[in-house]
Amino acid sequence: MEQLWAPWRMEYIKRTDTPPSDCILCNKLDDADGLLVHKGERAYVMMNLYPYNNGHVMISPIHHISGFDELPVETQTEIMNLATTLMRFMRNEMNAEGFNMGANIGKAGGAGIDEHFHFHVVPRWNGDTNFMPVVGHTKVQVDGLKETCELLKKAF
Ligand SMILES: [Zn+2]
Repeated sequence: MEQLWAPWRMEYIKRTDTPPSDCILCNKLDDADGLLVHKGERAYVMMNLYPYNNGHVMISPIHHISGFDELPVETQTEIMNLATTLMRFMRNEMNAEGFNMGANIGKAGGAGIDEHFHFHVVPRWNGDTNFMPVVGHTKVQVDGLKETCELLKKAF
């Protein structure tokens, strides 16, 4: 039988057990910039350096893994529990009136850092519809981020 087509060559993304030293999210774990909110058993919470709103945090697995579906269920659960704790705190202590939560997975899904899963939690207030992107103004923002980081630590 004549073979009409060659099977597609799958391209595998190599994943190592040792996290790459240049992963921005892995590097957050040493808290050099003081923006680590909480480190749990399997996941951690950090301030987003490029927030869409005051209080914009990201929750990531401690392991350098890109897909939510690749995470053990215990890690998935911890991420959702952390999101729950944060949302309750933001609602009660920061008077958040709404939230955006979710994740962009893979380059095609719009992930800025596609090799390490991160789940966004963004508190919203009525009237904040400007949704200000502050890329390029991080120097000005860092003090504010640290202040919010200190506040959010009280959630845990
Ligand atoms: Zn990483």
